[in-house]
Amino acid sequence: MNMKELIELDKKHFIHPTSSIQLQQEKGAKLIIEKGEGIYLTTIDGKVFIDAMSSLWNVNIGHGRTEIAEVAMEQMKKLAYSSAFSTFSHEPAIMLAKKIADLAPPKLNAVFFTSGGSESNDSAIKLVRHYWKIQGQHDRNKIISLKRGYHGVAVGATSATGIPEFWNMAGHMETGFAHAKNPYEVGTIKSIASIREVIENEGPETVAALLVEPVQGAGGVLIPPSDYFQEVRKLCDEYGILFVADEVITGFGRTGKMFGIEHWNVEPDLITFAKGVTSGYFPLGGVIVSDEIHEVLKEKSEGVLFHGFTYSGHPTGAAVALKNIEILEHEGLVENSRLMGEELLKGLKEIKAELRIVGDVRTIGLLGAMEILHDPISPNLKLAPRVIEALHERGVICRAVTYDDSDIICFSPPLTITKEQIQTLIEKLRESVLTVKQELVSQLLK
Ligand code: PMP
Repeated sequence: MNMKELIELDKKHFIHPTSSIQLQQEKGAKLIIEKGEGIYLTTIDGKVFIDAMSSLWNVNIGHGRTEIAEVAMEQMKKLAYSSAFSTFSHEPAIMLAKKIADLAPPKLNAVFFTSGGSESNDSAIKLVRHYWKIQGQHDRNKIISLKRGYHGVAVGATSATGIPEFWNMAGHMETGFAHAKNPYEVGTIKSIASIREVIENEGPETVAALLVEPVQGAGGVLIPPSDYFQEVRKLCDEYGILFVADEVITGFGRTGKMFGIEHWNVEPDLITFAKGVTSGYFPLGGVIVSDEIHEVLKEKSEGVLFHGFTYSGHPTGAAVALKNIEILEHEGLVENSRLMGEELLKGLKEIKAELRIVGDVRTIGLLGAMEILHDPISPNLKLAPRVIEALHERGVICRAVTYDDSDIICFSPPLTITKEQIQTLIEKLRESVLTVKQELVSQLLK
């Protein structure tokens, strides 16, 4: 079908996730992607783009890996799907659970599978409530998270998300959720004090868990200070609250370690994951729980655990995940993420030094951000979306974050990216920022 026809059908029949419906109706689909290879995406009309976001922070091993397609085909021919309910089991899910337990921090060794990040966070919320309930603590059901945190769009995950736009879409935030200040806004000491204040206000005996991303991704790649999670762990221990790390973006090599929380050398009680576990080749996620939680579940759960998705432990998804992890390990992609992250930072710093509209630049592995400086004369200009447009014209797909007063460009390229490709990305970014700066100057002179 030709592009024009596809755009018409798209308008008529396709309600896009997290998109402007008006914009779709006015302008049609922004891009219709036909194929992917490595860090590149090609549209149906033959334009090639660098996928500098790994699509949705998830295509860690890059596009077009036929090894994955082959593994999926073999598994589908053998056993495409079978349930894991009622203790039915199969080898791919068992082996994936074991592999993830081996990779996770030492005390986290049991895995509940889901189909994505939102389901993982809702599952974690329900599992921690269940954990407290079977120990007689029926009131411990509240979830505390951070402002600007993003945890997904299922009902629980939406409420845990600290970006009000997501609650407002369907009316309101559910009760039983509260948000504290994040360390990026106020630093470690004040963020910890804010979490403490929220715990005290809610009533410590009613708080089940703290749910936090090691690096807030959708909030604008906000990297906490080096002492932050040590303090978070101490605070959770002081109140006997469970600490859930949302590693949906940071898991599976994105930050230059297998799990993001390793940078802070602490162990959470639960880890939620998705995205990079299959690099987007199959929708799969999950929750890893500590031995202590697993012991309580084994000893005190009575009857059926009334929580499970049709696709929990999907055999084809599990086979894909195992192959994806094998590729991450065999090709040294976690290490490449660390090294190329440093390269990316070097380039971002050069642009900052040269073009003085750039504020903070930061990376942690291949998760990075460039902030646009607030202009005291005309604040809230929101230039990041304009830089994204300029990048788009130069064949780069990136993402802007403009919540509250932020004006941030995010980067999350495939972990396979090379030094030369980073240099191309940086050059295109430099040109784009320069173009926007020149537009701004001529606008102000008018
Ligand atoms: N948690 C985090 C940290 C995320 O970034 C996302 C998705 N961007 C989610 C949860 C939700 O995952 P999904 O879209 O797979 O439901």
